[in-house]
Amino acid sequence: MARIAFIGLGNMGGGMAANLANAGHDVRAFDLVEEALERAEARGCKRAASAAEAVADAEAVVTMLPAGKHVRDVYESAVIGTAPASAILIDCSTIDVATAREEIEKARAAGYAMVDAPVSGGIAAAEGGTLTFMVGGTDEAFARAEPFLTAMGKAVIHAGAAGAGQAAKICNNMLLGASMIATCETFVMAGKLGLDLQTFFDISSKASGQCWSMTSYCPVPGVGPETPADRDYEGGFAAALMLKDLRLAMEAAQSVDAYTPMGDHAETLYTRFSDLGGGGKDFSAIIKMIDDSWQRPAGAGAPPLPPGVQLD
Ligand code: NAD
Repeated sequence: MARIAFIGLGNMGGGMAANLANAGHDVRAFDLVEEALERAEARGCKRAASAAEAVADAEAVVTMLPAGKHVRDVYESAVIGTAPASAILIDCSTIDVATAREEIEKARAAGYAMVDAPVSGGIAAAEGGTLTFMVGGTDEAFARAEPFLTAMGKAVIHAGAAGAGQAAKICNNMLLGASMIATCETFVMAGKLGLDLQTFFDISSKASGQCWSMTSYCPVPGVGPETPADRDYEGGFAAALMLKDLRLAMEAAQSVDAYTPMGDHAETLYTRFSDLGGGGKDFSAIIKMIDDSWQRPAGAGAPPLPPGVQLD
């Protein structure tokens, strides 16, 4: 069993670190937040006083941080040059492709193997050890990271070279954001044309319009399988996180001069929904903005965004 440094014990990292400890690893955990450290300790991890202390004699370093700037700060101040050069470095955060590539290159130049390994699946999957990891890096780095990722997930896929994990993640989520909006507007129009929505679901889910946003995650309450729509759009994947990923996707599209009109429009619509206070709801709740039934939450401004999510 390995000595693992785990940095970033928030909504996702807390469960992931606990799963590594449950698998028998010696997990040295660090977060800036005291309660996160206490929770990790209660779940079998050892508390470290700093990121540098956590990585000091680590065989693997896993990070699960909010955004690119946090990843850059942690790797450049406390991991690269501090962890043993034999440690495999694994960043599971969702960040921009450019920063992922830069940090992997800096790590490589300092003698480390590193992968970007963002996840698909939310807090429940992090707790249950059923995440899907999309991994970017060399074959050798992937092979070294894989056993640790397997302890936290149900699928670990080598997406390609450094940054390919982040690229796969934002391409997938750009498609998801656009297809969710298309599904929402289609159901709203079907209703206005007098179609029974369950009947329309039965038809379209077996016809050429079917897609995951309809068949597995239908935004209409009471139609299709049980989804966040049946729980007033609570739980699931927050609209604010979808917006974060769409912004990363648009940044990446610009950097390679890719024409992404649907992704661009999805970003505009999720920005509007977030401005209307919808960021804390599941991303399928955008149907309520489309059918004009959304009511801005009472009180001063929008509900708090999920921790770690900053929209600017
Ligand atoms: P979170 O804000 O709950 O957790 C991030 C943690 O990092 C916090 O506890 C914070 O204190 C800690 N942190 C920040 N800077 C630090 C530093 N310098 N040193 C140590 N700790 C530091 O966020 P989360 O929901 O766990 O998400 C983490 C990442 O996973 C994000 O990139 C997010 O986009 C991605 N993600 C989240 C979900 C989800 O459903 N929450 C799903 C898929 C991917």
